[in-house]
Amino acid sequence: MKVLLLDLQPDQYPLEGYRKKQLLSWVFEQAAPDFDSMTNLPLKLRAELQEHYELSPFTQVDTFPSTDGSVKYLFTLRDGRQMEAVFMPYEDRKTICVSTMVGCPAKCAFCATGALGFGRNLTPGEIIGQILYAARDQGIPPKEIRNLVFMGMGEPLLNYDNTMNAARIMLSPEALNMSQRRVTLSTVGLAKGIRKLATEDIELKLAISLHAPDEETRQRIIPTGQANSIPEIMDAARDYQAKTGRRITMEYAMLRGVNDHLWQADLLADLLKGMISHVNLIPMNPWDGSGFEETPEVQIQAFYDRLEERGIPVSVRRSRGRDAGAACGQLALKKPSLSSSV
Ligand code: SF4
Repeated sequence: MKVLLLDLQPDQYPLEGYRKKQLLSWVFEQAAPDFDSMTNLPLKLRAELQEHYELSPFTQVDTFPSTDGSVKYLFTLRDGRQMEAVFMPYEDRKTICVSTMVGCPAKCAFCATGALGFGRNLTPGEIIGQILYAARDQGIPPKEIRNLVFMGMGEPLLNYDNTMNAARIMLSPEALNMSQRRVTLSTVGLAKGIRKLATEDIELKLAISLHAPDEETRQRIIPTGQANSIPEIMDAARDYQAKTGRRITMEYAMLRGVNDHLWQADLLADLLKGMISHVNLIPMNPWDGSGFEETPEVQIQAFYDRLEERGIPVSVRRSRGRDAGAACGQLALKKPSLSSSV
C-alpha cells in the first residue's frame, strides 16, 4: 500500500544520510510536484519511491485569485472530498490559512463550513500539502511562507493528533522550519483541548473564537458552547497563557443585532481584564442562507472604540479574498475557477 510521504515526520523518512537530505530538500525546500522531478536522485531510487509512496494528496486544485492579491485554493482529495486554504501575501510577510478537516462538526450557526457538516479529519500530509501546493503555485520556496494559521475548515482540537503531527513537521528544522511564534491555532473554544495543548512541548499561538461574551448569545451561535461555558474557556485560556507567556487572540465575528451591542463590548472587556489579549473584530462575510447580516461599519467602530476605551487592544480584521469565494467553506459549496490536475 502506498503511504503519503508528507504524512511522515522527517525522522521517519525512508532514506539515510545525504540521500535523506536530498529527499527532504526536494519535498520541503523545493516543493517538488512528483518523484520524477527529483533529478539528483538515481532513477532506480525514484522508481522505488514512486512504488511505495505518494507525494501529492490532491487530484485537482481549483484556484480563486482575489483582487487583493490573496488566492483561495479548493483542493480535491484522493477520496473526492474537498477542502480549502487561503494564501495571503502582505508587504512584510506571506501567510497561509489551512484547513484541518473536510467540513466541521462544530456547526457554528454563521459559518459556511459548519453548514457543510463533518466530512472527515485531514491527515498531516493533507494539511502540509496545502502549504506546499500554495508555494509551488506562487513560485516561491515553501520556507518563504513564514506565518500559518489553523483557521480554515474544521476545528483543529477535534483533529488533535493529526494537527499536532502537522505542526511538528512545520516546526522541524529539517522540514519547513517555521517559528512556533508564527503558527496560530484557532479553536472554537474547547476547554479540554486548550488544556491538553498546554501540555505539549511545542507552544503555538492560541486564538479563541469567542464571538460572544454572554452565554445566551454564545450558545445560540456556537453549539459547542453548551459543553464549554465561557468561564471554563477563560480559565483554560489563562492557564495556557501562564504556561506559554503568549498573548491570546480573541476572534469576534460581528453579527448585526446579535453580538454587536455595546453592553457586549463591556462584558467582553470585563472578561479580558488582567489578561494579555488582543481582540480581532471580524466583519462577517455574508453568504446565502446564513441567516445573519454584517454589522454596519458605524457599529463596528463604536464597538471598537468601547473596547479601546476600556484598555483592550483591538483591531478590525477584514477578510482577505472577499471577492474570490468569500468566507471559509463557501468555495466547497460553489465554484467556478481556474482548475488544474495534480
Ligand atoms: S467557525 Fe470554525 S469551528 Fe465553527 S463551524 Fe466554522 S470551521 Fe467549524
